Amino acid sequence: MSDIGKSLIVVSGPSGCGKDTVVKHILETDDRFVLSVSATTRAKRPYEKDGVDYIFLTKQQFIDGISNGDFLEHTLYCDNYYGTLKKQIEDKVADGKIVVLVIEVEGARNVKKVYPDSLTVFIAPPSLEELERRLRSRNTEDETTIKQRLFKANEELGFKSSYDYIVENNYVEQCAQSIIRIYDSNNK
Ligand code: 5GP
Repeated sequence: MSDIGKSLIVVSGPSGCGKDTVVKHILETDDRFVLSVSATTRAKRPYEKDGVDYIFLTKQQFIDGISNGDFLEHTLYCDNYYGTLKKQIEDKVADGKIVVLVIEVEGARNVKKVYPDSLTVFIAPPSLEELERRLRSRNTEDETTIKQRLFKANEELGFKSSYDYIVENNYVEQCAQSIIRIYDSNNK
């Protein structure tokens, strides 16, 4: 079990902090790393692909998955379910990959409980104003959801000190490189 933990990087950060872009950069620049594709019940955004960005499930399918014990962790976030599938982790680690989980704070805490050797990294936005600007400029959420996510962001920022590392996302490439360096220095 501890070997699996050493092959996991858990990345969190408030909605709009740019964590998906940072992780995409990690995956593109270093092929040791792969993404844990989460399951969710939220609606697919136009640019997202099923099975690539998320595994999109109905609420019933997700609840069945919970009953079957398919999830390493799951949570309800802004009225939708999100969860990490055990199979995603186990198969990818068995393939010799380092698996990156991009999940919110409760999920991160739960993964760390199961795998204490996993590395947890919090991506912080330069400021709350910048976070709001990024969240609005991506144009993927309505006003109610934006407000809900900003509220949640404040809450999530309060948990950053419980992570192994906090990295500020001023520049995507630098932030991605910092995370790779942190992983390598912890696994020499
Ligand atoms: P979004 O809807 O913006 O893609 O994701 C909303 C939040 O859910 C983000 O903080 C994202 O990291 C988190 N999330 C995505 N997948 C999972 C998961 O499998 N488990 C948990 N706990 N959170 C997730």
